[in-house]
Amino acid sequence: MYFGGIEAGGTKFVCAVSDQQQNLVKKISIPTTTPEATFAEVFEFFDQYELSALGIGSFGPIGIDPNKDNYGYILATPKPGWSEVDFLGKIKERYAIPVAWTTDVNAAAYGELKKGAAQGKKSCIYLTVGTGIGGGVVINENIFSGIGHPEMGHMHIKRHPDDDYEGTCPYHKDCLEGLAAGPSLEARTGIKGQDLPEDHPIWDLQAYYIGQALMSYSLILAPEKIVLGGGVMNQNQMLMKIRQSFVDQMSGYLETPPASEYIVRWGLPNESGIIGCLLLAEEALN
Ligand code: ADP
Ligand code: ZN
Repeated sequence: MYFGGIEAGGTKFVCAVSDQQQNLVKKISIPTTTPEATFAEVFEFFDQYELSALGIGSFGPIGIDPNKDNYGYILATPKPGWSEVDFLGKIKERYAIPVAWTTDVNAAAYGELKKGAAQGKKSCIYLTVGTGIGGGVVINENIFSGIGHPEMGHMHIKRHPDDDYEGTCPYHKDCLEGLAAGPSLEARTGIKGQDLPEDHPIWDLQAYYIGQALMSYSLILAPEKIVLGGGVMNQNQMLMKIRQSFVDQMSGYLETPPASEYIVRWGLPNESGIIGCLLLAEEALN
């Protein structure tokens, strides 16, 4: 018996197969081109296996409410050619098996809860700080969704008094993502995040915004763990700065575990999402 997982990103699709014990059997990466070409490669891969169930974690926004017509679709995405694509429909047409369908960050949160940095907990938030900022939420060991999925990167945020940068978000300009995602680093300094020196003052500003966001998420959801991932979190100094800023801005209001235990880096680097998808496939079967 095999489980399949698809972590669908705007740059690449990671497809994987695991056995009944959730041991990884095979994992491949497919560049995200047109839907037709990308799905052809996805099918070519999974056709080799007798799958019992599939788990999908997709870039979004996606239709997640089974009562709506857009359930299973990728909605209005800036990625050319991918808006209004019936992702789940294409998969179900090809494979008559149970399929779990959620966002990439929800799948990552689930993977981190079951096998990563939030193992043993019942709730966690996963936040990626990369090209965008996105968050997934697991509560009582279940992925949380309501009228849609959370869009934690686009929250409104209190500006730092010394910051007059307009922000990069095409919808809101200075939301969290607009002020603090990877592209904002380059837009502010002219230097890509990965090439900026560790002692550049921009890291304090970015930590102020991420720390503030984590404070808000904690106040609203009070999760047992906050897990951080994404390209920008490769900056080793950032974790300490974010924890400190979180503590400073919280001002002792909400009693949380020590920041060093509460706010942690991903336990499954670059794999939280795909591992979460494989686990969700198993869930779908059961
Ligand atoms: P994506 O979000 O597209 O899945 P990543 O999580 O790798 O991909 O994030 C890419 C973003 O992170 C880019 O804006 C890039 O400049 C930034 N980035 C990547 N590595 C680093 C690094 N070591 N330090 C700071 N920023 C980085
Ligand atoms: Zn926004």
